[in-house]
Amino acid sequence: MTYPKVELHCHMDGAIPYRLFVKCCREDGLVPEGVSDEQWIRDHVMNSTMSLSDCMGEFALLTGILQCRERLEELSFELLKDMYESGSKLVELRFSPQSHLNENLSMEEAVEAVLRGRKRALEVYPDLVCGFLLCMMNLGLNLGTMENNLKTVELAAKYKDQGVVGIDLAGDETATPIESYAPMFDHARKLGVNYTIHAGESGGPSNVMFAIMQKGGRIGHGIHAIEDENVVNELIRNNFVIEVSVTSNYFSRCVPSIEEHPIRKLWDKGVMININTDDPGLMGITLKSEYDLIAKTFGFTEREFILSNLYSARSSFCEGRERIIAELTEALKNCA
Ligand SMILES: [Zn+2]
Repeated sequence: MTYPKVELHCHMDGAIPYRLFVKCCREDGLVPEGVSDEQWIRDHVMNSTMSLSDCMGEFALLTGILQCRERLEELSFELLKDMYESGSKLVELRFSPQSHLNENLSMEEAVEAVLRGRKRALEVYPDLVCGFLLCMMNLGLNLGTMENNLKTVELAAKYKDQGVVGIDLAGDETATPIESYAPMFDHARKLGVNYTIHAGESGGPSNVMFAIMQKGGRIGHGIHAIEDENVVNELIRNNFVIEVSVTSNYFSRCVPSIEEHPIRKLWDKGVMININTDDPGLMGITLKSEYDLIAKTFGFTEREFILSNLYSARSSFCEGRERIIAELTEALKNCA
């Protein structure tokens, strides 16, 4: 059965299509002579044996090639095109405007570039529902500043009617206390800006509890809620949807093995789950390969996948989600 897929947790830079990745690396003279496109891609796709510093190096390479407005626009357009053509009809992409300032772009210019890419994608695929989340960065790894985080919230308010649908807090959740970002979410609430928060990915259930208390409706990952029954119950009681990425959680060592991922346990307890790729380009996966993995390893049925997409569509911040909700409701009815 075909039904519209909903993907809400995908980092634009980590999702770069390979053709664009190779093109940018060649233009920047990063690919040594004699190395083929295929070899270059193989050398830079993550696997489960990579060390944390290898992974950070790959992220730095990706951010490094995405420092001008032309490439940001192209990435936004090409990625939305690929996602639409592979069946995702409601998409939220996220990126951190403050990570693209090395070549004198301003945060506004970075946001405007990705929004131009979005506009072009909507001209080609008018029935695509999509929006951007702007990521604030955890300050632990020197990937951002509090001043730029505050500016990120304000930019989300400024571009609210032009395709920016909210904010996120990304980066290493264990590097600084998550509570120190509470004023950012207070500010977002005042400005009417939606938000989701990376919490309970590498951090424990208390971070998930913090995110629930911010009342954003969604949490990035949230899987370590499983360690505290009370937090699981609070997720359910507050109708939260958690944005789960199985392969990503394994590669970043947040779970010891794919088989030990708590997706099935959380689902069976009644937690609403949204299935995502997180960084598909970097990790060499697709949304389809994640669905296949989850079906095979955790026995998710088609009906469960449709239901998961329905929960996801309901929790999306994008305007136009109602049509996707209606299509998924219909698909659920037709699924035995
Ligand atoms: Zn993420």
